[in-house]
Amino acid sequence: MSTNPNNKKIVIAVDGFSSCGKSTFAKMVAARLGYIFIDTGAMYRAVTLYALEHGAFTNGILNEEMLVGMLDDIHIDFRFNPERGASDIYVGGEWVEGKIRTIEVSNLVSAVSAVGEVRKRLVAMQQRMGRDKGVVMDGRDIGTVVFPDAELKIFMTADPEVRAERRYLELSAKGEEVSREEIVENIRQRDHLDQNRAISPLRKADDAVVLDNGGMTLEEEMEWFDKVFASV
Ligand code: C5P
Repeated sequence: MSTNPNNKKIVIAVDGFSSCGKSTFAKMVAARLGYIFIDTGAMYRAVTLYALEHGAFTNGILNEEMLVGMLDDIHIDFRFNPERGASDIYVGGEWVEGKIRTIEVSNLVSAVSAVGEVRKRLVAMQQRMGRDKGVVMDGRDIGTVVFPDAELKIFMTADPEVRAERRYLELSAKGEEVSREEIVENIRQRDHLDQNRAISPLRKADDAVVLDNGGMTLEEEMEWFDKVFASV
């Protein structure tokens, strides 16, 4: 297990583009340090799923007002799953991990995450979850908005083709029928929407360290992390 020189628990923010392997990286870092891993994308996906299942989308178009009216009824919580070594997300007590990572939810989530009231509530929840530090949180705005004072900020990026291939292999392994073209299109669209939304757009915090993991193995990513962590 690595420790930083002060041996003090810190907040580690991991932001970056879609399908960069942020969650895999953040989960491994958390396990290495004995920290809690929090996947904030799962929270936006969970709200999207709820909106989808409760009629806030018509032909893929979000009724924002209807969604905002539902927010008080959406109860999200995380419960540790020892098999995964990470927490699973629940909505209203229902386990939804299996439903939130489909291409359908991926195609709709950027519309939901652009809604100010959604962000306000989820950011407040994320700040509560990280209050005691010792967390690795991955998302799009962790180092810029959720924890602008995080002691370590990492911004992950990789070539879109590499990211699409990884996502394709991941979804195919789960048995979801989806084409490479559809995934490339989804990644391109989400990159665009996430970077260009009015509220908390995806951008690198000025003090973030960049990790381009395109040609790297997970082992190399961890070696890179150990070096960066030692300098915090
Ligand atoms: O990380 P993941 O791909 O699961 O995130 C799904 C979507 O949730 C992103 O495309 C983005 O629109 C939104 N998101 C966000 N802010 C975060 C995490 C995710 O807007 N902190």
